[in-house]
Amino acid sequence: MFIEFTQEQTMFQGAIRDFAEKEIAPLVEEAEEKERFPVALFPRMGALGYLCVSHPAKYGAGELGKVGDCIAVEEIARIASGIASAIMVQGGIGTVILVRQGTEEQKQKYLIPAIKGEKIAAFALTEPNAGSDAAAIQTTAVKEGDSYVINGTKMFITNGPIADFVVVMSYTDKEAGPRKGMSAFVVEKGTPGFTVARKLSKVGNRSAETGELAFQDCRVPAENLLGEAGEGFGYMLATLARGRVSHAARSLGVARAAFEASLQYAQERVQFGQPIARFQAIRFKLARMATDIEAARWLMYRAAWLVDNGQERMKEVAMAKFFASEVAQQAVTEAMHIHGGYGYMSEHPVQRYYRDAKLFTITEGTSEIQQTIIARELGI
Ligand SMILES: Cc1cc2nc3c(=O)[nH]c(=O)nc-3n(C[C@H](O)[C@H](O)[C@H](O)COP(=O)(O)OP(=O)(O)OC[C@H]3O[C@@H](n4cnc5c(N)ncnc54)[C@H](O)[C@@H]3O)c2cc1C
Repeated sequence: MFIEFTQEQTMFQGAIRDFAEKEIAPLVEEAEEKERFPVALFPRMGALGYLCVSHPAKYGAGELGKVGDCIAVEEIARIASGIASAIMVQGGIGTVILVRQGTEEQKQKYLIPAIKGEKIAAFALTEPNAGSDAAAIQTTAVKEGDSYVINGTKMFITNGPIADFVVVMSYTDKEAGPRKGMSAFVVEKGTPGFTVARKLSKVGNRSAETGELAFQDCRVPAENLLGEAGEGFGYMLATLARGRVSHAARSLGVARAAFEASLQYAQERVQFGQPIARFQAIRFKLARMATDIEAARWLMYRAAWLVDNGQERMKEVAMAKFFASEVAQQAVTEAMHIHGGYGYMSEHPVQRYYRDAKLFTITEGTSEIQQTIIARELGI
């Protein structure tokens, strides 16, 4: 049973926290303002071994497991959730299928450069008419000789506008249904027929770049197929399950940032002759936030530990994502309240946490979908 970090994990946490505070924090304001990811972070983090930290050491990654991935995501999201999401995609949904199903050639071509930060990855499942209902995607990949021709539109794709390659989910055999008819392909930037249809402007997480991608008679060589044709749905479910644990870590990072800012502010802000932290109403809010964050942390690291120990369970993963994302929403709402009028001002980071956290109950499976999974696992 996972109880505390190993010495290696503790050292990694200290190092990545230090990096996030010293090297990411100064970039946040401009990136959020311009809605542009600071792409130089990719090679910088790659060189330090801070990208794709859970991937195998034999490809140059840290092999720190899901626990290591969550440590990194939590610390980066504490500084900037948008930047954390781009880094999460790189080490998660954008490359997990390559690690698990990729050929040695595909790993050399895409995975290793992604670990080094030389290539940026994205993962494209969602479509304009298919979000929670992933089986309803309409993108098709038709085999023609030694290639596949992809047609379709992908929506809300993190890193889409800056990606060097995208893992695209498509039907290769619609008649066979999702479990036997969906496949995953790598599509490289610059492939004729593949365009970024538009970059999307968001309420929060603005330092991550999100786009709509179009595939129009986009021809890719058959060797860009990942794993077996028709098995993509299973690969995708396993990828998303792991990604949800990282999502819990991202939620936790923002909840912590909101809590830490509130704790400090409550001790500094004086009203009626005393710090507002002396008022029971404020003390109880902070006590509640601290407790919820601690509970979310346990659920999240337990789910990560289960993944690392080959006991990946849908229920625990869904609980971790569901609970942490709801805790983050509660924490940012209370944080803004504790900060009073100052928290509502654009110049204060608390409003960013507030905008960022709203996403967490929506993306990579909404709270309703997580509860549906938990209920199903309960046998009802
Ligand atoms: C910023 C951002 C980044 C994203 N990045 C990526 C990415 O990199 N790659 C990618 O593929 N996708 C990405 N997504 C897509 C994301 O995963 C979807 O938005 C999410 O799965 C929800 O789908 P939807 O937005 O179409 O909402 P819908 O599925 O249309 O849901 C709308 C509402 O209906 C509810 N609902 C739907 N079905 C049910 C049901 N069965 N029971 C109860 N309630 C239900 C939902 O909970 C929600 O409240 C991103 C989205 C955002 C906003």
